[in-house]
Amino acid sequence: MKVKIGFHFSISGGIDRAVDRCLDLGCNSLQIFTGNPRSLFSEGLKEKEVELFRDKIGSNDIKLVVVHTNYLINLASKSRFRISFEAFYEECVKASKIGANYIVLHPGSLVDTEREEAIINIVYAINKVTSEIENCPTILLENTSGSGRQLGARFEDIVTIIDAVILKEKVGVCLDTAHAFQAGYSIHEKRSFLEFIEDFNSQGLLNKIRLVHLNDSKTPFASRVDRHWHLGVGYIGEFLGEIARFFASMDVPLVMETPWGLDEDRKNLATLLDWLGVKL
Ligand SMILES: [Zn+2]
Ligand SMILES: [Zn+2]
Repeated sequence: MKVKIGFHFSISGGIDRAVDRCLDLGCNSLQIFTGNPRSLFSEGLKEKEVELFRDKIGSNDIKLVVVHTNYLINLASKSRFRISFEAFYEECVKASKIGANYIVLHPGSLVDTEREEAIINIVYAINKVTSEIENCPTILLENTSGSGRQLGARFEDIVTIIDAVILKEKVGVCLDTAHAFQAGYSIHEKRSFLEFIEDFNSQGLLNKIRLVHLNDSKTPFASRVDRHWHLGVGYIGEFLGEIARFFASMDVPLVMETPWGLDEDRKNLATLLDWLGVKL
């Protein structure tokens, strides 16, 4: 299978177990957390665990490894910046050790700062990790649903950050379809989707998309509430298939972050393969 397809997999039992889960389903791409996503710092990875993970990746047809940073990192907060930066740095070191291709980062939330200052801090953090960490994977900024004072619900935020980063090849975009829809981008209809893509192109972002989080939405259009749902049965619905085809034709990997469950994963994968007209 040429298309890069996968899920966010659990690392329960060790990070290498995520590779087993990926292969069991028949996928060739995976996304993981390297620790507890709801704690800022997690135990470091054991040498043996890293070795096992790399062995399994190397000896199988795994085309893509993505690390998603934990949810507590908020580089957009003034008071939480130092500690968030430390945690982010640690995540990047871990991701480089396991040989990840990409690190997905949410820009953060403006809890105690204004946009400009927050962006300066985020750019500083990205410049630091990408210049200091050996083999640091490319950092992908993910768009958000825009709940509260989240940055990144508008793609302009992401453009501003990318424009200011020094090592341009080390930064890209992760487009989450559910978040874009929830933030008010009408990607669920043909004409407005094409307009969205055109806009993206004119902002210089289209060729910066390295990954799509292919999720349907459990909440209505422009709800600003982040709830992922199973493919084709949420508010985006069947049109998600067209979005999947569009990005697959550009060779952009498609990773699903649908609510967990083995049967549900199988079903979502079957839906996606059917949309793409490919077989495992
Ligand atoms: Zn995310
Ligand atoms: Zn996502």
